[in-house]
Amino acid sequence: MNKIIFRIIIVFLAIAGLFLFLREFNWSKIFGLDDATQKLEQELGNQIWESMKSTENVDHDTMMMEVLDTIVNRLCASNQIQRSKIKLHLMENATANAFAMPGDYLIVHSGLFTNGCKTADQIAGVIAHELAHIEKNHVSRKITTQIGITALTTLVGGNAEAVKEAIRFFTSNAYDRSLEEEADLMAVTYMNESNLDPKALAETMDIFSEKSANPELEENLSWFSTHPASKERADYIRKESNKIKGKNYQKLQISQEYKEHFGW
Ligand SMILES: [Zn+2]
Repeated sequence: MNKIIFRIIIVFLAIAGLFLFLREFNWSKIFGLDDATQKLEQELGNQIWESMKSTENVDHDTMMMEVLDTIVNRLCASNQIQRSKIKLHLMENATANAFAMPGDYLIVHSGLFTNGCKTADQIAGVIAHELAHIEKNHVSRKITTQIGITALTTLVGGNAEAVKEAIRFFTSNAYDRSLEEEADLMAVTYMNESNLDPKALAETMDIFSEKSANPELEENLSWFSTHPASKERADYIRKESNKIKGKNYQKLQISQEYKEHFGW
């Protein structure tokens, strides 16, 4: 068995075991095991990122990176999220997607600009949602709740497909419904605190709904397919946003040159 695959499996299983142990007994504080889990997640994230970097293209588009940096900086600064821990990376991939991986990795596909969102606020909505998955520890929970299927596939398979499987596991962004709702509502708070209109996330949902209504446009592993954007979700995001009164939101300003570059 390939060495890196073997290491990924071991770390994967160790995190799952430790997390289940912690949840069962809630001894994390006594033994300081939260730190151990975090270290393992970091290790797992680094290994997946290493293999991702060698199989996929990192995108060095400075305009996209500038917009993403601005958004992440602003969301973090306004919501007491430690910016330095977030490992933000842009991948050259036409599929409109963004996802969180263990170890506070936040991966964005260039397709989120060119094939999905039409404003920087909408992109901020997606990023806020993914930051919520990171901050609320949904990534750890995902590892443990879905460990059975994926770990078994990986172990039994034991071939080069295993790394792909690990990547696929995190890029297929589906968390269970309650976690998705929690991330949506958290994103509304994050946007609001950053003085950005949270309804932009609802707009994104509308775009996704339209796209998924047209099967020809829907692509595998996009935020569209992994976040089935029902009207219901857009509705509760709008409802939640409407509870907030008296805010004078500022739209993120994007120059004409940038808009043309993104195809907006
Ligand atoms: Zn999500």
